[in-house]
Amino acid sequence: MLLRSGLLRGRGPVDVLIHGETIAAVEPAGSIAEPEGAVVHELGGSVIVPGFVEPHLHLDKAHLGASAGGLAEAIAATARRKAGFTRDDVRARAARTLAAAVAHGTTAVRAQTEVDPGVGLLGIDVMTELAEDLVGVVELQTAVFPQEGILSRPGTLPLMREALSRAGTIVGGCPYSEVDVADARAHVDLVLDLAVEYGVPADLHLDLADDTSDGRFALAEHVARATVARGLQGRVSIGHATTLASLHGATRGRVLAALAEARITVVLLPATDLFLVGRADEANVRRGVAPLRALWEEGVPTALSSNNIRNAFTPSGTADPLDMALLLGRVSHLSADADFDRLLEMITVAGRQVIDPGSVGGIRTGARADVVVLDQTLDVPPVIEQPSRRLVISRGSVVSAETRDRTLAPALERLAALAPASV
Ligand SMILES: [Zn+2]
Repeated sequence: MLLRSGLLRGRGPVDVLIHGETIAAVEPAGSIAEPEGAVVHELGGSVIVPGFVEPHLHLDKAHLGASAGGLAEAIAATARRKAGFTRDDVRARAARTLAAAVAHGTTAVRAQTEVDPGVGLLGIDVMTELAEDLVGVVELQTAVFPQEGILSRPGTLPLMREALSRAGTIVGGCPYSEVDVADARAHVDLVLDLAVEYGVPADLHLDLADDTSDGRFALAEHVARATVARGLQGRVSIGHATTLASLHGATRGRVLAALAEARITVVLLPATDLFLVGRADEANVRRGVAPLRALWEEGVPTALSSNNIRNAFTPSGTADPLDMALLLGRVSHLSADADFDRLLEMITVAGRQVIDPGSVGGIRTGARADVVVLDQTLDVPPVIEQPSRRLVISRGSVVSAETRDRTLAPALERLAALAPASV
């Protein structure tokens, strides 16, 4: 497949040659000869970006319906709903979410999937089936997620081990669901030990609260030290980490430096965090997202994801990483084009590093051929422009294509013709 004349931000017009599932060459536009038998897509200067990655998405509890409360109420409401889960029900809601995600340009997902003695491995089984059904369409990795704790829910650990013995699963954790700080730390250590034992990355739901007054929500530094102690640098990610925003001065510096040293990726989940955090604030309600600029300045890797789609944790969402990135940019006081381009990196190459540490990402020779062609020709950050997705290419095949016809009233046609292309 040849993508002719795409616009790559920071590089200019390019041709992209795809051979099988891999990008074989990226050269200035017009310079790659059309290989015999190749499918050629003439892009006419449309912006191209790498396939989006959602490193933190709960497919098993998507589309359960909203509730109004904070974190504790959301966990309780979801626990009640889980009792009624069936394979068909989970599969249908997950499939609906994945279909939307792929149409929005997502080519890889880490599905955070609940495991406990109540729901058993039902969610894991469904994700395993979906991953097989969708080979070549979207890469689906499963994180074994003990939402209700490990120590506080006896019987969870053997189920986690059973799930981890399957290919394509990695270990997740949720230490704040334990009863006290000591158990929460033990939970972290247990999860990281499992990561070592099974040779997989670890992904923790961590420090999701207004501040660090409850020590179960102040574990980032402990996770960093435990990561380095086990040689897991670059293989651990933490989702939420909202309490980092409440740290000041030397304490903030120390914790962020520890995360940077451990090369832990903070996965920001703004749609959920904005909804759940700051519930007790009557005035000056906290924003409730990790301090993005401070993380960047300290050299902490960052990614972002949708987390939940329409449930008790997150009442809205369309599984669109570009939309999430704009939300995070707005809430994080970003303004420069370079900052919005960095948000794009967070939903592409940084997300890929989370689910596949050490892999080659982006639109470059040797990378996997996951490419999204946007309905945008202006050379401005796509996160600001929010274009529709013309073509979604996953592992070298077109998996979603969108055409759009728009007819403007004559007066609007005249105005559109007046607008300079560079605006
Ligand atoms: Zn989550």
